[in-house]
Amino acid sequence: MQVKSLLAILATVRLAASYGWSVIDINNGEWSETIERDVCIVGGGASGVHAAVSLIDLNKTVVVVERNDYLGGGTHTYVDPETLATVDIGVVVFQPIPVVFEFFNKLKVALLNMSSVEVNKAGQPANLSLPAAMFNTIRQDADFRDGSEVTRSLPLEEAEADAFRRLAEVYSNYSYLLYGYDLPDPVPEDLYMPFGAFLEKYNLTAAFPTIYQISQGMGDLLQVSTIYAIKYFNLDDLRYSSQGYFTQAHGNNSELYTRAGAYIGASNTLLQSTVISANRKNTTSGRLELLVSTRAEGLKLLSCKQILLTIPPTLTNLRGWDLTAEECAVFSQYITANGYWTGLVKNVGLNETVAIFNSAAHTPFNIPVLPALYHLSPVGVIDDVWWIKFAADNPTMSDAQVKSYAERQIETMQRARNATITKPEWLIFESHTPFHLQVAPEVIKNGFFRDLTALQGGLGGKMFYSGAAFHTQYSTLLWRFNHDVVIPKMMAPV
Ligand SMILES: Cc1cc2nc3c(=O)[nH]c(=O)nc-3n(C[C@H](O)[C@H](O)[C@H](O)COP(=O)(O)OP(=O)(O)OC[C@H]3O[C@@H](n4cnc5c(N)ncnc54)[C@H](O)[C@@H]3O)c2cc1C
Repeated sequence: MQVKSLLAILATVRLAASYGWSVIDINNGEWSETIERDVCIVGGGASGVHAAVSLIDLNKTVVVVERNDYLGGGTHTYVDPETLATVDIGVVVFQPIPVVFEFFNKLKVALLNMSSVEVNKAGQPANLSLPAAMFNTIRQDADFRDGSEVTRSLPLEEAEADAFRRLAEVYSNYSYLLYGYDLPDPVPEDLYMPFGAFLEKYNLTAAFPTIYQISQGMGDLLQVSTIYAIKYFNLDDLRYSSQGYFTQAHGNNSELYTRAGAYIGASNTLLQSTVISANRKNTTSGRLELLVSTRAEGLKLLSCKQILLTIPPTLTNLRGWDLTAEECAVFSQYITANGYWTGLVKNVGLNETVAIFNSAAHTPFNIPVLPALYHLSPVGVIDDVWWIKFAADNPTMSDAQVKSYAERQIETMQRARNATITKPEWLIFESHTPFHLQVAPEVIKNGFFRDLTALQGGLGGKMFYSGAAFHTQYSTLLWRFNHDVVIPKMMAPV
């Protein structure tokens, strides 16, 4: 090992100590139950749930530990108590790739090709037989700081189409990014330069306005390292978008996770639970042990042969874990993440055929100034209910701050449009913060992703990782990552 890496490990071990970590005495016997399984999966979102179902199909026993009171992570559906109309406020679209059809078919959840049906004409009422996400609105742009209208300067259609064609060519040089972070050595400079500079270099800026709209949650997309941008709106989007994106047939993507939950089984799912201590190295049984705090039933000890970690691997999230020097060295490199929140508000009183997008007159490409709402969009299928997404370039805002900031921006829009000023009622509000963990460009250049990837199979083939930090913020690509990379590694003989 190089002296430099040793010093990095030493520094991070010291950092861990300064966080005051001490492994809670896992041997004190104060838990109500010991649960023995082949695999403990930490995080019951897109990657954790898909992995659980896949491992069960490979005759493994599993237990899933999830902090929320539902499975699905970024997938969450609001159900109107009166009409039972549903609105997905998180994950909406799935790419048309085989792993998507396999997963939905297996759980008998119907999909709809979004390009195969006729939506309402923009400005006309919603077609109530179609998912809310397909309510077609008139787009208007305004600066949510003062309500002023913004006319975006957009590329000509032909120039944009040409840029997307050439973008696909350039992205195909990096097609390995579709399968994880297995990068060449040395890491190509393109991948750690700012995405704005990358687009300039290849004369692709005409594609930016559309990429920005799709890449919500990525913060200041012009400044992020190109590798993250390429993995989010990715080569498969460019290849397959002409086949149409898919969504659950009735606008209820959570159905996938409800069915998956039933498949995994209640006795194998610990909701409202978190790991408070880990002992993976020194157990008398030779198995890995996780002490889990559950809301309903106190402490439980999980004893397993392998662990699959799918939660954002920040040092805060892994408090109480007996991190190895290698894990510490890698996870302490995250310097920032974005803030990303989503929700539905009622009682806004604006024109329900218009979706207002936040833009700015004097920023590059008219991108909005964050932190702010990305948009205020009527859902169409429930009267005067609006979908909001709120974004920040860092994860520091509290949920209460975001709500009050969003309410102020809604009021600004009501004033600007001479509407009655009302206090919106929150029907549902979800935080997905920290979203999109990032390391510095220099760290990418120095082999961060090689070190991240090398963690797979650690502790003698017992420790594995999936989820957005190990691939990308895209459910479909995470399912394929599980299928092609992570699960085969977990199943390989040690
Ligand atoms: C608003 C929004 C819209 C999106 N739209 C799409 C889309 O249309 N299509 C698409 O493919 N992707 C979309 N995504 C991205 C998609 O949601 C993510 O790529 C995906 O959820 C990442 O999967 P994951 O398993 O890494 O994380 P998650 O799905 O977020 O799962 C992680 C889980 O871990 C839990 N957790 C976190 N910390 C702990 C802890 N300490 N202990 C226990 N549990 C913990 C969380 O509660 C969560 O359930 C969207 C995301 C958001 C936020």
